[in-house]
Amino acid sequence: MNTPFVVAIDGPTASGKGTLASKIAARLGFDYMDTGALYRGVAKTALDQGLDTTNEDEAIQAAQSMCQNYDLSLQDDPRIRTEAVSKCASEVAAIPQVRALLLALQKDFAKRNVAGVVIEGRDIGTVICPDAPVKLFIDASAEIRAERRYKQLKDKGLEADYDAILEQLHIRDGRDSGRKTAPTRAAEDAIILDTSTMSADEVLQKSLQIITDHYTS
Ligand code: C5P
Repeated sequence: MNTPFVVAIDGPTASGKGTLASKIAARLGFDYMDTGALYRGVAKTALDQGLDTTNEDEAIQAAQSMCQNYDLSLQDDPRIRTEAVSKCASEVAAIPQVRALLLALQKDFAKRNVAGVVIEGRDIGTVICPDAPVKLFIDASAEIRAERRYKQLKDKGLEADYDAILEQLHIRDGRDSGRKTAPTRAAEDAIILDTSTMSADEVLQKSLQIITDHYTS
């Protein structure tokens, strides 16, 4: 069985890594996994089943239940993108046993018998695929990320409060990079792209260039 060419993409909340990763996958014909959807799935399951995500045992129960019913199409479900789910997702993601339960789904994805995979999250380059030939860490200042999120919501005709978005972003950033297990961190061999002053298309072109350089070498 062939092992796929792995593109590992990490970065903080609202850094644009999700959109970037799916565009790269579409361009190269690679399979795409949004690992944040797994944590969101656990959070959504907990909320649906009335489980308390601040209680470790109940969060683990939600993770077990999510794993039994998991399907890759979960990442396309808009119901995992609500603010309530986002908050709980970052809480359950700090529990080591929850992370351990989600490990196999991610590692198996990276071993698919396909030409390539793009996997995106917080610990892909450090924990899930430490041997990936291409590791990108997509970053931007908190203010720029909040502004982009604000504009996205407004463009969809939804209510948005810039200050509230920025505050939530700081809270999630703090929890995701401050936790003991698999914090958000660029791998030592990752290429860091600060996208604060780049357009989405510039980021895509730059990333494709980096990947092509590694793919052909
Ligand atoms: O990327 P996204 O914002 O959808 O992820 C939701 C939450 O899942 C993050 O705030 C983070 O706590 C967690 N996560 C993680 N490790 C990953 C992907 C996401 O801890 N690989």
